[in-house]
Amino acid sequence: MFPSKRTSMNELTLKVIGCGDAFASGGRNHSCFFLKINRAGVLLDLGGTAFAGLKQHSVDQSQVDYIIISHLHGDHYGGLPFFLLDAGVKKRSKPLTIVGPKGLREKTLALLALLYPGTRVMEKMSIRFVSFEEPMPLSFPDFRLRAMPVIHSKATDPHGIRLETQQRLLPIPATRNGHPSCSTFPKMPICSYANVISINPTSPDTSAIGFYKNTCRI
Ligand SMILES: [Zn+2]
Repeated sequence: MFPSKRTSMNELTLKVIGCGDAFASGGRNHSCFFLKINRAGVLLDLGGTAFAGLKQHSVDQSQVDYIIISHLHGDHYGGLPFFLLDAGVKKRSKPLTIVGPKGLREKTLALLALLYPGTRVMEKMSIRFVSFEEPMPLSFPDFRLRAMPVIHSKATDPHGIRLETQQRLLPIPATRNGHPSCSTFPKMPICSYANVISINPTSPDTSAIGFYKNTCRI
């Protein structure tokens, strides 16, 4: 748990569930960040092994109102079927909004059908999918979201995510190999005035770890 930012009008907390890459370097969970924005619970990415991370950090599906998926690599959205199955089994009635690349709903349904044939949990829950194709920024009761294309595997429709509240918060859950160097992050337009910048470093012994830790203290 990294330090909370708090004002009388606005509360932000960030819990890092997973910051590993596709290969779980360093034994870290796949990408997943749990944000609390006032009363709203937001998961930024939900990678394949992140569901176990949620349990390890006592983050129940009932605490989550929004799931934002940065791009369609398994280490960033492969945990969705497990989350949805858990929510369905627990007969979740609370609405859930899932924001992400075009086609995310269809891919999620396909994943569920592959991993748990015959399950119909999604039909029984109130789930709204919102595509990055919608005009930006997307406005929600507790924050605004701006998704911007970033350099990464094109087939995954990769986006950097900027969440805006009265304070500003920026996680970028994309791999760092698509960027010239970590030191350029603070200079990117999407990063201006950011309270937090997050990336998932590619190995535990690179300078990205130092960068990651440093930026989370912002
Ligand atoms: Zn990726």
